[in-house]
Amino acid sequence: MARRDLHVPFEEKDEAKLLGARWDAQARCWYVPTGIPDEPFARWFQPREQRPPTPPDYSALPLNLLIEQPAIVEATAECWSCREGTPVLTVAGRDEDGDLAIVTGIQSVDAPLGRALAERPYYRLAFSRTTQQWAFANLCTSCGALQGDFFLHNEPDGPFFALHNAEPHLRITELAEPVRVATDDPAYDLE
Ligand SMILES: [Zn+2]
Repeated sequence: MARRDLHVPFEEKDEAKLLGARWDAQARCWYVPTGIPDEPFARWFQPREQRPPTPPDYSALPLNLLIEQPAIVEATAECWSCREGTPVLTVAGRDEDGDLAIVTGIQSVDAPLGRALAERPYYRLAFSRTTQQWAFANLCTSCGALQGDFFLHNEPDGPFFALHNAEPHLRITELAEPVRVATDDPAYDLE
């Protein structure tokens, strides 16, 4: 595996060094020595001007979508970036027929769903460069790369392409009570 080069601003070099980054004097570049996990250096993977803005505070958003029969659907995906296996989940709701439908564009969740998701910290508010928006998304537990909803939900190879109970690769946790989320997905008929 190639070494991971970092974009460390001059004023953050001591911090990077403390975490174990090395300086390549010839290339004039900090890098992660091979053999040590690069996750602690994630904030320097991209040049500062390309880094996402700080997360918005969505806690005051109205929880505009009621999920009557909520479920957390879990699977394992191969990270597109590091190729490691990483857990991924989607929040879903059952319709009158008992079929599961994915809930997308989640920006905030109520306390009961928040508690259920707290046990699964790889699913959290993240900035998507594809959509240029903040929403709950799956981040690789090895490298932190965002696992895009489009692949997970819409590609035939994606783990959530077919959400049937019988799918052996899915782990479905039904939540006991209805939950509410804030979503900006225009697909919903929102309150
Ligand atoms: Zn990864």
